[in-house]
Amino acid sequence: VAGIDLVLRGGTVITMDPGRRVVTDCTIACSDGTITYVGPDSEAPAAGDAVVVDTKGKYVIPGLVNTHSHLFQTMLKGLGDDRELVDWFRCMTGPSAAHLRAEDCETAALCGSLEALRSGTTCIVDFMYAHPRPALTDAVARGLTRSGIRSVLARGFNDAGSAGDVPPALVEPLDQILDDCRRVIELYHGAAGGRLTVRLAPCMIWSVSPEALLATRELATEAGVGITMHVAETPYELSVSNERYGMGDLAYLDSLGVLGPDFLAVHCVQVTEADIEVLAARGVCVSHNPTSNMYLASGVAPIPAMLAAGVPVGLACDGTASNNNHNMIESMKMASLLHKVSTRDPLVLTGEKALEMATIDGARSLGMDHLIGSIEPGKRADLVVVDLEASLFAGPVHYPVSSLVYSALGDEVDTVVVDGRVLLEHGEFVEHDPREVLAHCGAAARGLVDRAGTAWLRERPWRSVGARPDDAR
Ligand SMILES: [Zn+2]
Repeated sequence: VAGIDLVLRGGTVITMDPGRRVVTDCTIACSDGTITYVGPDSEAPAAGDAVVVDTKGKYVIPGLVNTHSHLFQTMLKGLGDDRELVDWFRCMTGPSAAHLRAEDCETAALCGSLEALRSGTTCIVDFMYAHPRPALTDAVARGLTRSGIRSVLARGFNDAGSAGDVPPALVEPLDQILDDCRRVIELYHGAAGGRLTVRLAPCMIWSVSPEALLATRELATEAGVGITMHVAETPYELSVSNERYGMGDLAYLDSLGVLGPDFLAVHCVQVTEADIEVLAARGVCVSHNPTSNMYLASGVAPIPAMLAAGVPVGLACDGTASNNNHNMIESMKMASLLHKVSTRDPLVLTGEKALEMATIDGARSLGMDHLIGSIEPGKRADLVVVDLEASLFAGPVHYPVSSLVYSALGDEVDTVVVDGRVLLEHGEFVEHDPREVLAHCGAAARGLVDRAGTAWLRERPWRSVGARPDDAR
């Protein structure tokens, strides 16, 4: 048995364990990336020559789990403001995605991962659906691995464009997709010391064929990897599905037999009561992206009804072209407030539930709750130290969960540990200079805008109340 090599001592630990214990004067001991002790300082095992992080006066939470992102969009912040999804995709995100190069994908994945880590996220799903060139998945994997974050590399794809909505450069032939999915699973599922895993990611009902959905199910089951897909995000998606298949996309996925507990359905904004029964009956998990749904005016996902039906729901930021950041602390507040106002029930999604969705429920929605999502012996050491008391925004602290969810901005995150490795210490990255990474990503972003022909969005005229979507063109 390896000895203790990392100790966090003295803080208040919000464990998110089954009893939701909050332990004061608490020590967490870790050995080779695994948590071995969580309990009173007075009973903690001897630290020996382990690295000791003093957490006195601070709070320790499990690393946050972001269940849906598109890291390449780190280069697209603010270009697609004030548009609904189809317009946003046609005029900005689609053309940008069609011009991605490997170096763009690597720098954006690194920069976006550092942003996530800086605000307390230790596990992120990257849904990478744009493959205008080969090997972009590999570039994303390099960026993720360099950051040190835990991640799920979702190999996304489109094998069918719908009436010209998807740029031809983003449509791949199905046999090529399946070959590359097999290659990506072989190469990256369990890579980076186990921090990297793979999922298959059909993009959305209007850009994939039924054959691709069936083949995805078959390969996922055979390889033991999960599936994730955008489902029922906008009325447009539903209308295409109804036109083609005579039913909504979730009902159609169910009719194909592709749903199951390893299926993470992203958004589920436009779902019916019957759809929620299907989600529950098939054990499907849901990724909730409140900020993105508000930003794109997509609607309000009926999350309270899903929770009542027992559907596991994780939280997410979505890509930074529709958020526009990777800050899960902000997303917890957005989730709680969105459902309070849409139901006029202040208890419908409490601060505590928002924190559950951002930790243990998110882990469960990814089938990773045996590894992460709470601070318990036997789990991986993905830990976040938050200095709430020292923040003008979060302090003075009466009830730490409230301060974290409703007051904090994200930069209260002081120390971040992933898999037992300290990546951020007192707000500073141990191995990266964020200014350097940002400069690199910024240069790539400007190059991408020039190649994609979206510079007009950077130079758009001022739009105030009463503007029409095409006023900026
Ligand atoms: Zn998405």
